[in-house]
Amino acid sequence: MFAFPRRAAAPADEAMITPTVCEIIWFAGLVAWYIIRYPFERRAKKVGVTKSLFGWRESGLLALAFLGLWIIPGIYVLTGFPAALDHPLIPAIAILGIVTLCGALLLFYRSHADLGRNWSISLELRSEHRLVSSGIYRFIRHPMYSSFFLMAIAQLMLLPNWFAGATGLVGVAMLYGFRVRQEERMMVERFGAEYRDYMARTARLIPWLV
Ligand code: SAH
Repeated sequence: MFAFPRRAAAPADEAMITPTVCEIIWFAGLVAWYIIRYPFERRAKKVGVTKSLFGWRESGLLALAFLGLWIIPGIYVLTGFPAALDHPLIPAIAILGIVTLCGALLLFYRSHADLGRNWSISLELRSEHRLVSSGIYRFIRHPMYSSFFLMAIAQLMLLPNWFAGATGLVGVAMLYGFRVRQEERMMVERFGAEYRDYMARTARLIPWLV
């Protein structure tokens, strides 16, 4: 009788895409994320803040995003919990996840570079706050939040677990959903017609669409 090999021979690139490899890539993405942010954060923090909406609500939303993007997937990668919700890894989806992760990091870098010292982790206006509407901000008003969504989608595609894969998307959707209107209201209060015009000619997350 013909004996089938236990595992069908996979093309070399697919054979390399194992769950462990994907988890390492996901982790490398988080490290890159931090390395990109750190110098911008240091520079922006030197500039004084004139208005801040930071409070319980903002802290809660930031904590949720952190939990969904870092803590829960981190626990999964380290311990395998909750293993009951594991699903098979599809190499083509994982490769798409790597491409999405690279896109997220590029967009994350670009938005920091364009926003410069006007950046804050929460909703804040800095002294001499300038309305940025050039660079990537010419096309969308919230490229940094677009990069968060891409990061969360990459997590979903790279981690073969329904729970640990999806929590990033939940955290980012909560942060974005509860924050974006407040942020735009704050910008309209500060910049008036200039921001309203900017809103009229740009989409929030995806150029010309959303
Ligand atoms: N929502 C933007 C920026 C996130 S950082 C994005 O997703 O790219 C949050 C801070 O950016 C807020 O405190 C706000 O003051 C500032 N901000 C948002 N849009 C801005 C813009 N177009 N120009 C200057 N500052 C902006």
